[in-house]
Parts: sequence; structure tokens; C-alpha cells
Amino acid sequence: MPPRANARKKTQPKADSTETPVEPPKITFSDSEITEIRRKLLDWYDLNHRVLPWRRNPHSKLAVTDPNLKCPPANLPMNEFMYYVWVCEVMSQQTQLPRVIEYFNRWTEKWPTVEALSKASLDEVNAMWAGLGYYRRARYLLEGAKYVMEHHDGAFPHTSKELQKIPGVGAYTGNAIASIACSEGVAVVDANVVRVIARLRRMAGDPRAAAKEHAALADMLLDPERPGCFNQAVMELGATVCTVHQAPDCAGCPINGQCQAYAAVEEHRLSGGDPSAAPSVTAYPEKVEKAKRSEQSVAVCVLEMHGPGDSKKPSRQYLLVQRPKEGLLAGLWEFPSVTVPAEASEKERRADVDSLLDTLLGAGRADLEVQERRHLGSIVHIFSHIRMTLHVERLLVKGEEVPALSSPGSGRQAPLKLQPSRHIARSENGASQKKEISEDVLQRLRVAEEEAAALRQELAKARAEALAKGDVGVVDQIEDAIRSNRIDSGDLKRLNPFAGSDKDNWLREADVSFLIGKGPGEAEGTDGVSESEGETVKRRVLIGAALTVVLGAFALVPTDSLRIMKPTKPLFLYLIPLIRIQELLTDVREVVADARWEELAPALQRIQGTPNNAEPNLRDAAYSIEDARTRERAEVLARDIIEYLDSIDYNKYFDAMGRPGSRGGSQEKQFSEFSIRAVDASQVKLKEFLALMPRDAVAAAREQAIVPM
Ligand code: SF4
Repeated sequence: MPPRANARKKTQPKADSTETPVEPPKITFSDSEITEIRRKLLDWYDLNHRVLPWRRNPHSKLAVTDPNLKCPPANLPMNEFMYYVWVCEVMSQQTQLPRVIEYFNRWTEKWPTVEALSKASLDEVNAMWAGLGYYRRARYLLEGAKYVMEHHDGAFPHTSKELQKIPGVGAYTGNAIASIACSEGVAVVDANVVRVIARLRRMAGDPRAAAKEHAALADMLLDPERPGCFNQAVMELGATVCTVHQAPDCAGCPINGQCQAYAAVEEHRLSGGDPSAAPSVTAYPEKVEKAKRSEQSVAVCVLEMHGPGDSKKPSRQYLLVQRPKEGLLAGLWEFPSVTVPAEASEKERRADVDSLLDTLLGAGRADLEVQERRHLGSIVHIFSHIRMTLHVERLLVKGEEVPALSSPGSGRQAPLKLQPSRHIARSENGASQKKEISEDVLQRLRVAEEEAAALRQELAKARAEALAKGDVGVVDQIEDAIRSNRIDSGDLKRLNPFAGSDKDNWLREADVSFLIGKGPGEAEGTDGVSESEGETVKRRVLIGAALTVVLGAFALVPTDSLRIMKPTKPLFLYLIPLIRIQELLTDVREVVADARWEELAPALQRIQGTPNNAEPNLRDAAYSIEDARTRERAEVLARDIIEYLDSIDYNKYFDAMGRPGSRGGSQEKQFSEFSIRAVDASQVKLKEFLALMPRDAVAAAREQAIVPM
């Protein structure tokens, strides 16, 4: 018999009126802690802050002697300073400092004031932003500049509340500008601040759920006298001492006396606790599971149009479409593309592309005669939350006249343009970028020439010494290498792990052609780089080719000073592809485990070839290491990684035996296991390799490795 409702309702014991309810402990700082943290952090900041082109610190105790380190000029008006802080704060979101500095300098040189920026076009702003990702930020800067001109006559408001009315300026940016430039007492809370506070107070749990607490604690700590400096000090501590990826430097931290996470570590250590069970400050804040990337499949059509012209030099143009103003890569130009189902066949993809082209070109499409249509390949592009597979086809058409393309907003699906082939081939940024590339290359060649001259002297010395000792073998080796005009002989391979990749140290002809204005297979032309500059590059490349022989000979002599020239780019740029490779290897493992053999070669191609070029990047990263021992260890690891990567695709063994596709059954299983072991070994070695690299460089690379939206 079911119990009657309320029949057995328990009577709650009456609360004892004398009992005080127990509150959970409140996360807070005591007055003395606040005083100490403010004082110590500001003292530390005044002595240790980085000198940046947008940073002012009237209390700085730094003696800056490096002329390359600049802070804003003393006579920079307040409004311009606010503009600087705004630009740098927007650029710094999702981007590492070295890159921000480079872009900031270029940006403020072109648009030194908010007024100058307000007159720029979206294309100009996007071009200047190219390489920073998250293009939405560039658009917001432009829209914000227009807003300030229109609503404030070009003068920024001085409070965070008013600043937040500017398009794209949220609480973080508003507080940063107002506190740093106008000394308003408002705290900023970014990932660095959250990390420092979470560790200071050992705050467990998802930091996103505790956003209000973090903000309240940041407010509590903020120094009312120097709010801008204090905000920057906490962020600087988080970026340089209380770091995210590597072990924080707690021993050198100015506020370790107030840090509860560090106190727990020290207590465990001093009590002789089990080291394997030791607490770690990096347990705070709790790692948040990243949302899994969604999969997207896109058919891309590279429509190349040959117009009327003589048969040797047909006029070639490519069709470009502007992306919508909102969403992924908003407002950027791309080859016509359409999202397709993941399982769509090539035929189905073509049908979708056809209907897109019908929409884009309308009746004009019928006048175009298809000359060739072929699938070029499929590539995977990783965005922060999308894994996009792009199936690319080339559609070559011929027509007497280029179809009349619509102008923006005329009713077609999207703005279109036909771009002459030379710009498509290499650069969307026009002459200015070409100029920069050219200077970069010239500089690289200048350094190479100097190093080669020094090496040549060393070689002469080594040869003379060998001669003096009567060591005919060494003399012969050196002279043979020079005579044979090659550096990929067996001996050299043995001594130089990267022998054979000499081309990566020197520009290829195609690169030279590009620098002097010719894309591959394009008509003659010299815009972008002057004729004399082009000639200089050509001459230097020829010198370079000759010196390669000499450099090859040096590889015979196993001393540190006789290495191939030192890479000239910042190390983190070589590490970005290696970090991507870590992720791609996970995909490769899945491909092998699922026996999706047809996907294996393209997946490996993305690792070993374009865009991640494992071998040259491993080599350059290894050669960038100053310490000889570490560098040698890195070189050994690099060699191992290259070998393991080479071993992953067992299909090539069958293909080499002339029996493609003949594997099966136990053989397939056996090889699959072998491949997985090779993937695992590559991952382990790559992890070891990255552990040898400086932390800053790895952290910078990690920030950049994910292709942002
Ligand atoms: S002591 Fe360590 S964990 Fe604590 S704030 Fe300093 S660096 Fe961060």
C-alpha cells in the first residue's frame, strides 16, 4: 500500500537558536598582504619591466643602453599615448610580445594617430595585420578610430566607462587604457592576472566560474597611486615569472612570501614529504578542457582565366571572392569556396562549385571555355575551433572577355575581383611587403657572406695545419669536397646531419625571380623590387651558390665554429611548425590506427613538406641553440625525428616492391603496429627536442601555432 502523502513526513529538528551558521572561508587578502604585494610588485616592476614602444614608467630604475629598446617619446601627447596603448592592447590579445612589437612599430609608423587610422581602408588595415590572425581585431581598430573621430572629434575619452563605448573596446581594454594612460583606478583581468591570483590564493576549480572573484581580488590588490603600473606589473609577472607553460620561477618571485601555492610546495619540501606526491603551483588555475574542434569540409576552386593575348603570354587572372563581413576571416579575399558534406565525392564537390560559380558569374560563365579541371589535393587547416579540410581544384578557363564582375553590394552573393596572376602568386600585400622580404633576404645574404668569409679563413687554416702535420687524408677530403661541388656525399652525410638540404640555406631561383618581380611562369616585370636590387640579389645568390661548396667542405671538420650559417630568424618561428607537427602526429596516429591508408601520405606530406617542413625547421631550431652541448643533443634528436617520420608510411615499402595495395591481413596489422610505433617514437623525440629549446621561444611558438580566426 503506497504511503499516504505527508503521512511519514519527517519533522526537521529545530535549529538551535544559539548555533552560528558556518560560512565557507572567504578568499581574500589581509591588509598587510595587500600592502606587501603592492610594494614588492611595484619595486620589482621598476627594476625589471620590459622596455616597450608603448610603455611609459616614470618610476623606472632601468638603465637602458640598448638603442633598439625604445619607449614612447617624452613629448608624445596624451591622446597619442592613449592611441598607442589601445593599439598594443588589441594586438597583444592572442599574440606574443616579439611579434606585437614588430607589428606595432609598423602600424604606428603608417598610422601614427587615431585620425590617420580612421582614414585607412579595411583592405589596408587587413594587409597590415596579415600574419597576426584574428582579423576581427584589425577591423575593430578601424571602426573604433572612425567612432572616436565622429563622436569625440579625435580625442579619446578618459574613463574606462566611456572608452567601452568604442566598438571593440571591452572591459579589459577600456580598463587597460584608462589605468595606464589616465591613471584611473580600474583593475585589468587577463589570463596572466588570473593565473597569478589563482596561485596566490590556491583557487581551485574552473577559473571561468570564478571570474567575479578574480575581478574582486584584482580590485582589492590594485595600487591606487599607480594603477597603470600595478596592472602592468601583475601582467608582467604572469608573463615572465609566474608562467603558464614552464615551471614558474617561484624562488625569484617578488611576492612568493604572500603566495599560498608556493607556501604549500615549500611546506611539503621542508617536511621531507614524498617528492612524487609534492604539490605544484601549476595546479592553479585549473586547466580548462578545450572544446573539441568541429570538422568542416570545403571545396575550393582556383579559377584561372586566360584572356585574349598572344599565345606566349596569355593574360592570366584569378577569381577572388570577398568573405562576408562577419564570422571566420571576415572581409578577407579568397578563392571561391563552398562548404560541402565531409563524405562528398569529387563529382558532388564539383557540382557544388559549379552552382557557386553560376551564382558568382551569372550569364558570363557560359562564355568561358573550360580548358582543364583537376583536383590539386586536399589540405587540413587548423583554426582555433575548426579543423577544416580544403579540397582544392584548379579550373582553367579561356574567354575572349573577362566576365563582367559585380561591384560590392550590387546584388551578387559576394564582392568579386579578378586579380592579375603575379599578385596572387606570392603576395597580397603589394609592393611594401615585397620590399620587406627583399631587405630581409639581402640581410640574410649579407650575414651569410660574412660568415662564409670567416669560414673560408678557418678552412684555409685547417688545411694549412693538416698540411703542416702531413695529414694528407684531411687535406684530400677538403679538396675533394671542393672539387666534387657537392655536399651530399656519404662522408658529409655522416658528419653533417642535414647534408643534402643545402638549398634551404640559399635562395632558389624561383625565390629570386619572385624578388625581382616574376612569379613562377609569369610575364616579365620588375615592380616591387628595383632592377639594381634584383641584380644585387642575383649576384649574391650566385656568390651563395659558390660558397655553398665551401660551406660543405667545412662540414667535414667537426668543430662548432665550422657549422652551416646560423639561422637568422627568431627561434620561435622555427618552433611554430614543430608545435603544429606535434598535433598533426596525433592525427597521423589516428589515420594509421583506423587503417585510412589513402590519407596517410597527404598527412605526412603536411609534416615533412609544406607547410611545416619538419627537416629544415628542426635543423634551424637546433642550430639556433647557443650552448654547444645542448645544440649537439638537439641535432641528434632532430636526426632521430627525421628518421622516425620517414618510417611511418609503410605503404611506400609495398609500392617500392611494385606491389601497391597488395598488403592485407596479418601483414597489414604488423605494419600498422610498426607505423604506430614510429609515430609514438617521433612524438617522444619531438617532445624531448622541444624541452631543449628556451622556454620563452617555445611559449611564443605555442601561442602562434594555432591558426587563429
Ligand atoms: S610564488 Fe610562484 S606561483 Fe606564486 S605568484 Fe610567484 S611565481 Fe607565481
